[in-house]
Amino acid sequence: MSNCAVVGINWGDEGKGRMVDLLTEEYDIVVRFQGGGNAGHTVMNDKGTFALHLLPSGILRDGVVNILGNGVALDPENLLKEIEEVRAKGVEITPENLKISDRASLLMPWHRDLDELEEMRLKDKKYGSTKQGIAPFYSDKYQKKTVLCGELNYPDEMKEHVANILEWKNLTLTKVYGAKPYTMEMVNAWINNYCEKIKPFICDVGEYLKNAQDSGKKIMFEAQLGSLKDLDYGIYPYTTSSNTTALYAPIGSGFPGAKIDSTIGVVKAYSTAVGEGAFVSEIFGEEADALREAGHEYGAKTGRPRRVGAFDVVATRYGVEVQNATEIALTKLDVLSYMDKIPVCTKYIVNGGETERFPFPSALDSSKPVIEYFDGWNCDISRITKWEDLPENAKKYVLYIEKAIKCPITYVSVGPERESIIVRK
Ligand code: GDP
Ligand code: MG
Repeated sequence: MSNCAVVGINWGDEGKGRMVDLLTEEYDIVVRFQGGGNAGHTVMNDKGTFALHLLPSGILRDGVVNILGNGVALDPENLLKEIEEVRAKGVEITPENLKISDRASLLMPWHRDLDELEEMRLKDKKYGSTKQGIAPFYSDKYQKKTVLCGELNYPDEMKEHVANILEWKNLTLTKVYGAKPYTMEMVNAWINNYCEKIKPFICDVGEYLKNAQDSGKKIMFEAQLGSLKDLDYGIYPYTTSSNTTALYAPIGSGFPGAKIDSTIGVVKAYSTAVGEGAFVSEIFGEEADALREAGHEYGAKTGRPRRVGAFDVVATRYGVEVQNATEIALTKLDVLSYMDKIPVCTKYIVNGGETERFPFPSALDSSKPVIEYFDGWNCDISRITKWEDLPENAKKYVLYIEKAIKCPITYVSVGPERESIIVRK
């Protein structure tokens, strides 16, 4: 038996979807255990190019069973749209290869409204939310004011539960934000339109996963975002509203007894971030535009330009610790091929002194990067599949990062396609 978690080490968009798609060749099951449809995992393979949001990236591999665990924000409206988009490209999606936990909470229409209303209220202090309702959803879950997918199988009980939640939610909508209330008719229509259609996929995934593990099937856990966006360990409050860390995978999957044998941390060869919040190694102006263009750094969900920066040793080493990563997939090395000198943030200056430790969130805004430069390799490396064939300076860059972040780099990705990979083990 050998299960693994594929997680982000940075601020997200490291190429987790791309790595999951590659590695599923060896796995039977892929589980998404946190987050929602605000994710954008771009995958390119023989079936086409896909921007996956809530569907696990294993959905593109025939024979792999995909699970949405209890930890996800289950948005039936967007999930159905995504299923249709992926089906339109010839991928079969049935209750055989997609299973939704009966304990996953439903993201309701008012969660999206409240996300938007709160960002509007905050104006220039906004969080930079994707406005998919994720923060209001998780707040409600912790307040025990959400509806579980499995409740769809208990319509009478569900009706009463929804009515109670609605009474409470309308207070916030109308009295706090001056927005329109929802009626039970509106909610019933929404349930009929969307929830009924996802019902065939809903089951007890815990039982399924336990039996799978007992019978030696290999399970992969796929995270959304990365260490620095983790609710507890990230750049709070500019984090996401769930735990993006590998150790949350068993809890969010529906099978707390799941064993994780290896944690593959996905690291980008430079830095990018979306949303607000401190980003110490961020670069601006023409230098940033060139990197953004070279890496096509525009959000898969929103299309918004990503913030870009130098590789950040301090944040990445911290990210590796937070994830307890056992190995690293370094992605997008090919993007740096145009640079003569590659900037790397090796330390931070915090309160006037140099440090290698990632600071407490309040100290991040005033932290400054210490930048060192590495020689570039100035040639196309995107067709290389063997470590020995990489230019010396590219090898030096990878080996420097490996040593600095204290974790073996076992994969080097040199292109978005499934086969553009160098395996180092
Ligand atoms: P995720 O959210 O972690 O799955 O990452 P995203 O899919 O949002 O962002 C990664 C982007 O980089 C996607 O557009 C991928 O197609 C692309 N990508 C992944 N790995 C590589 C790589 O090694 N080289 C290049 N050039 N692009 C890559
Ligand atoms: Mg992404």
